[in-house]
Amino acid sequence: MFFCENCKSSISSPSKVWDIVEQEDKRGTLVEFRVALLECNRCGRKSLQNLGKTKLIVIRKERWDELNEEVKLLREKVKVLEEKLELSELTYKMEMLSLEVEDLKKGKRSLEREISNLLK
Ligand SMILES: [Zn+2]
Repeated sequence: MFFCENCKSSISSPSKVWDIVEQEDKRGTLVEFRVALLECNRCGRKSLQNLGKTKLIVIRKERWDELNEEVKLLREKVKVLEEKLELSELTYKMEMLSLEVEDLKKGKRSLEREISNLLK
């Protein structure tokens, strides 16, 4: 929701939105501004509103491709590491469960002994 800067009545949506790219500094950083044209239905005032800005960098396509390739390799590494981690967690759980099974077996044996003593 936007408001007319003149009469303050509400404007539901801009009549036009576009982007302007400007050089921010001498080092070549670019800034993209998103600008909206607001037209008031009541008083007819037209005004521009800045909807925010984003910094842009210019990068050689070769470098961009290299970086994408690196990201791809790193993602594959992460996947392998996650699988290893999952495997070691499962191994740990399995060890814990087999200890629990051992305890249960011991419990069963002592219950069996108690029952046979009671039946004597
Ligand atoms: Zn107005």
